[in-house]
Amino acid sequence: MKEIKLKPCPFCGGKAYLGESWEQTKTVQCSVCGCGTLHLKNKLDVIELWNRRTVPEDSANQQN
Ligand SMILES: [Zn+2]
Repeated sequence: MKEIKLKPCPFCGGKAYLGESWEQTKTVQCSVCGCGTLHLKNKLDVIELWNRRTVPEDSANQQN
C-alpha cells in the first residue's frame, strides 16, 4: 500500500501522526501541540485534510 507522507504541523512544525479513535475513525494529530483534524472513516481523507491545512498563505503577513 502506498505511503502518504504527513506534512508537519501548520502551527508548531511538529511531527504529525495518524491515529485511530473510537468507532474505527481516523485522525491526524500533531505529536507536539496536539492539534488535529476531524475524525473521518477514510484514512486517505484525513491525510488529505491534514496536508491541505498546511498550505502556506500567499499574502505576506507583516505582523510584528
Ligand atoms: Zn503542532
